[in-house]
Amino acid sequence: MVTGGTGLVGSAIKEVIDAEGNSEEKWVYLSSKDGNLCDPAAVAAIFDKYQPTHVIHLAAKVGGLFANMKHKVQFWRDNVNMNDNIFQECHKRGVQKLVSCLSTCIFPDKTTFPIDETMIHDGPPHFSNEGYAYAKRMVDVQNRMYKSQYGCNFTAVIPTNIFGKHDNFHLEDSHVIPGLIHRGFNCKKEGKSFDIWGSGKPLRQFIFSIDLAKLMIWTLRSYDEADPIILSVGEEDEVPISDVAYAVAKSLDANIGGTPLEVTFDTSKADGQFKKTANNHKLRKYLPDFKFTPFEEAMDITVKWFLENYETGGVRK
Ligand code: NAP
Ligand code: GDP
Repeated sequence: MVTGGTGLVGSAIKEVIDAEGNSEEKWVYLSSKDGNLCDPAAVAAIFDKYQPTHVIHLAAKVGGLFANMKHKVQFWRDNVNMNDNIFQECHKRGVQKLVSCLSTCIFPDKTTFPIDETMIHDGPPHFSNEGYAYAKRMVDVQNRMYKSQYGCNFTAVIPTNIFGKHDNFHLEDSHVIPGLIHRGFNCKKEGKSFDIWGSGKPLRQFIFSIDLAKLMIWTLRSYDEADPIILSVGEEDEVPISDVAYAVAKSLDANIGGTPLEVTFDTSKADGQFKKTANNHKLRKYLPDFKFTPFEEAMDITVKWFLENYETGGVRK
């Protein structure tokens, strides 16, 4: 059972599982229409209905830097409540494996780089997303407590920034890549310059949703530590936001044609955390040969998907 199965990561897991064509496993993908996971009774009813043996818990209150700054309390409460309900039901029902999802933006702000899995709790997170970060950090604590008290096989993955098809392309509250694709598309239509928020200097590692989906399915089937694992491209693939903006502009220009976008930077807007460089050495010990989709190729797939689905109303925005 995949909670949050209709979002960016859930849709990618579905795409990978459907392509596998494995008829021995039955996968269920939940959306908020199946019940509000903040409500313990709704979560119990979902477990009654599906009786899951394995759970990937993706559902979360998720947003980009600007949504996190505006709604810290909701980011804290929704995530703590959802996670607590899911952990409790998984334990009560004897679920064999639970994989939850953390994020590299929960790491300490003032730290040494690169960050690894042992450093999650070594100092406060960046103030901009503390509601989300502290709620997510508790998942790591819960995994260890449920293991030590009940012997549960619960764990978590730590992805870097994710992007791909079925993302939330909201103009203000989304993450940077979907936000820029949508804004760049509007700028092309209106013949305006393409304004990037902040200086463009912050550094990020991005993982394509399909790559993350493959790695999360591997985690579910083959990774049995309670301690979390970072799922990320290497440190050498960290890019400044300015490069992301140029890649978005290049792909929109190539796919739409017309006058090329002129990229500008609005330094009156926040930059957020400067960097959160994570190392993927643990992942590489397990899967030395895993191939990540090249960034520009993944960007082009995402932009094409956005353009194909925009007019039909298939884009969350
Ligand atoms: P997403 O696209 O925003 O999807 C969120 C999913 O959660 C949707 O299926 C949504 O259902 C469901 N959901 C939200 N609130 C719910 C509630 N109260 N009850 C039931 N379902 C609820 O999220 P995502 O980007 O795929 O994120 C998946 C996981 O990755 C999250 O745990 C997130 O913290 C983590 N993560 C994300 C990023 C990133 O860059 N996106 C980076 C690192 C980690 P509806 O569609 O019905 O609303
Ligand atoms: P973060 O990695 O958790 O900070 O999340 P984001 O995906 O929101 O990335 C934020 C970085 O991208 C910051 O440096 C922002 O200043 C920059 N950025 C530039 N334009 C945008 C935009 O349109 N939306 C968002 N969310 N961030 C933007």
